[in-house]
Amino acid sequence: MNIHEYQAKSVLREFAVPVPRGIAAFSVEEAVAAAHQLGGPIWVVKAQIHAGGRGKAGGVKVVSSIEAVRSQAARLLGSTLITHQTSPHGKVVRRLLIEEGSAIEREFYLSALVDRARGQVAFVVSTEGGMEIEEVAAREPEKIVSFSIDPATSLMPHHGRRAAALGLGGDRGADLSDVLAKLYEAFVSKDMSLLEINPLVVTKGGQVLCLDAKIAFDDNALYRHADIAALRDLSEEDDKEVEASKYDLNYIALDGSIGCMVNGAGLAMATMDIIKLYGEAPANFLDVGGGATREKVSAAFKIITADPRVKGILVNIFGGIMRCDVIAEGVLAAVKEVGLSVPLVVRLEGTNVELGNQILSASRLNVITATDLDDAAQKIVSAVREPQ
Ligand code: ADP
Ligand code: MG
Repeated sequence: MNIHEYQAKSVLREFAVPVPRGIAAFSVEEAVAAAHQLGGPIWVVKAQIHAGGRGKAGGVKVVSSIEAVRSQAARLLGSTLITHQTSPHGKVVRRLLIEEGSAIEREFYLSALVDRARGQVAFVVSTEGGMEIEEVAAREPEKIVSFSIDPATSLMPHHGRRAAALGLGGDRGADLSDVLAKLYEAFVSKDMSLLEINPLVVTKGGQVLCLDAKIAFDDNALYRHADIAALRDLSEEDDKEVEASKYDLNYIALDGSIGCMVNGAGLAMATMDIIKLYGEAPANFLDVGGGATREKVSAAFKIITADPRVKGILVNIFGGIMRCDVIAEGVLAAVKEVGLSVPLVVRLEGTNVELGNQILSASRLNVITATDLDDAAQKIVSAVREPQ
């Protein structure tokens, strides 16, 4: 789960991480009131969307009067911001962060993430603040240091020294170690999967400060963080994905024309690949999982059919723990409720496959059956291409 920058900063504040003073605003009037409360003389008006790259796209403005806060807030609220991290359609700005402006001496990049191979939290620190870290890694890898933290010993002074060796200047090394330790504590306590501070700055006054903050949380741990779960902003998420998450379905909306219902992430990936191989594109990634019930399958099918982009549906199930008859019943229940106006190709294999096929053929649904993955992909591609 992702959260907004202002929410991320308030989570970090709980751990005494230094962040600028700031207030969230949902309207122009709230923005102006926030500016008065902060007092100036420099304010930053920041669009809150679940994407970075806002600065370059005009979504972050440093201003020096309340009137300018008002006009920037009016310009941004309700506007669509297209950054290199959003889709080409962009994201509508519904919230702002009004923040005190900091006098920046130097900008750094800092992130923490889970290094799965080591089973540890790893930090990545770079002198190239404000830049895309992928670009720095490709062009100037010497400007990046990374190290992982042994959970038994936690953050050690040598970690701070390695980061400070990038050239923080003066006695800022000790401050940086302190910030690193607090960020590590926040990361572990809140079950984060990614924490990115870009930029981490040293101010002209010599303070180490987190000017931006992006946090992603591990969904599987949200049940033990009610405070974090409450920060979810559904308007930032795809409607279909929100609906799917209610049923615990692994669903991701895509741009193509063929709706896919598959069990197992590997089979789902293979199904998407083979649809591409035959010249069409998948409308979604959907893994109904191993222990799906009839209700869950039915919900999945409804989400797929509700997508106007879907010109055909491919059900590709390898029944192991998942039984083919449960899939067939779920599909039927959904079709009874919402109808079926596009071609449907079904490939079932494995546990209770005969029963599954019987249920489908007895239903007199217009199902095209397929024998294997290749056959199924070819059939659905030609079905969506034929004029109905
Ligand atoms: P994004 O990463 O989406 O572009 P940032 O929050 O990193 O958004 O802001 C972009 C740039 O704006 C930063 O690199 C920094 O130079 C400047 N900036 C952001 N917040 C402040 C602030 N509180 N004071 C001064 N400058 C800021
Ligand atoms: Mg940033």
